[in-house]
Amino acid sequence: MSDQLPMVAIVGRPNVGKSTLLNRFVGRREAIVEEKPGVTRDRKEVAAEWQGRDFRLVDTGGWLPGGVGDSLDAKVSKQSERAMEEADVILLVVDATVGVTEEDARVGEVLRQVSAPVLVVVNKVDDANRESAIWEFMSLGLGEPMPVSALHGRAAGDLLDHVMELLPPEVETEPNRNDEGELEEIDEEGRRVFAVAIVGRPNVGKSTLFNRLIGEERAVVHDMPGTTRDTIDTVVETPSGPIRFVDTAGMRRRSRIDENTEYYSLVRALQAVDRSDVAVLVIDATEGVTAQDQRLTERIDAAGCPVVILLNKIELLDADDRAALTSEVERKLHFIGEAVVLKMSALTGKGVHRLVPVLADAIESYHTRIPTRKVNDVIRDAQIAQPAPHGARVMYALQGAADPPTFTLFSNRELPPTYLRYLERRLREAFSLGATPIKLRVRNRAD
Ligand code: GDP
Ligand code: GDP
Repeated sequence: MSDQLPMVAIVGRPNVGKSTLLNRFVGRREAIVEEKPGVTRDRKEVAAEWQGRDFRLVDTGGWLPGGVGDSLDAKVSKQSERAMEEADVILLVVDATVGVTEEDARVGEVLRQVSAPVLVVVNKVDDANRESAIWEFMSLGLGEPMPVSALHGRAAGDLLDHVMELLPPEVETEPNRNDEGELEEIDEEGRRVFAVAIVGRPNVGKSTLFNRLIGEERAVVHDMPGTTRDTIDTVVETPSGPIRFVDTAGMRRRSRIDENTEYYSLVRALQAVDRSDVAVLVIDATEGVTAQDQRLTERIDAAGCPVVILLNKIELLDADDRAALTSEVERKLHFIGEAVVLKMSALTGKGVHRLVPVLADAIESYHTRIPTRKVNDVIRDAQIAQPAPHGARVMYALQGAADPPTFTLFSNRELPPTYLRYLERRLREAFSLGATPIKLRVRNRAD
């Protein structure tokens, strides 16, 4: 197992449920759970994964046997000691049915000195009635304890969500590859750089806008090879983090590659959209929403890419024309729902500054991680408001991954696509995901 993986150490006195918790986390049952207290076991290390993140779990096997009078050092087994030094996160497991023991208090004392974050896990909280038992463990001086039941799995997902937040940021040793196996840029926090496609018919002002964006942000700009030989992407540093503008070859230089025909510009735009997280659709305000704008929007929407509508050259319109254009957009592009519509003049720069914040919102949502409990609350409420047909039901849901937010729904049987779109909408609203793409994965019992 790679030593590079972050390590979560499970410590605590014997019989509190460390092994049971470890087995719960890795989802396997074959590991042996000792019934006898005080059994010194070898350090057990297993690989685990949560929210798409791999890590190591180490069960330290508890403390060396020894009387209460022994020195503190002697009470802590070498294994536990080493694990605590190496760990990125330490889970101190205690037993709700027993309360704070002297040994717990001593371990708590040791753990207050370590640098890694420590979570007090109050195990054997098998039902809500026992939850009040956790407050007693505040006396360990290690912050608010988290109740779980390792045996029944109660709140185990929430605990792991919390552990993931405490892990150090992921370090990529080699460039990420996306689903298509393409190389992707990673920012300093190890997150995938958000990709934006600026698309629209020829002459609507895409290049002017793009060059203005580079100028406005006084950006550190660098080129990246795109997928094919003649595509170049540009990564622009903005106050909200890096943004990768896809297929900017023709926008940076004034030389155009086959943009003269609408067909090629459409194909090219769709290829860019395929590699992007958000599409900025530029429309020439003086021409209004043309049939090709509509077609392009439909195609982007069908590709599952959220759209920001940008009405450019707005300075050429008077107030009446602007109002008329707004209603035209609503009428002709109604199918894209709650897309943000921005009016600006790339030529004069007026309104251009509003684009990056809109993209920044989308970026923030893109990296969102939502606690499992909240996801389940939303799904439950959505199902109460509108149950799925034929008794289909989501039993449990969680956000399995970020970048973009990916939700896994566990259902009793197949859910119809219309119902999934309904749930997606509810999730999007509840967590203000705006224009961010989100993915739903459904697992049903038959899988
Ligand atoms: P360890 O010595 O800390 O690794 O503890 P084990 O995992 O071996 O568990 C000790 C005992 O506590 C076993 O009998 C488990 O079945 C039991 N146990 C573990 N977790 C729970 C729990 O959440 N609820 C209850 N009621 N019993 C538990
Ligand atoms: P692209 O083909 O979509 O990249 O469009 P360009 O950026 O090359 O712009 C086409 C023409 O529209 C150029 O003559 C630009 O100067 C002009 N243009 C771009 N943005 C604006 C704007 O906001 N207002 C006006 N009046 N003209 C603009």
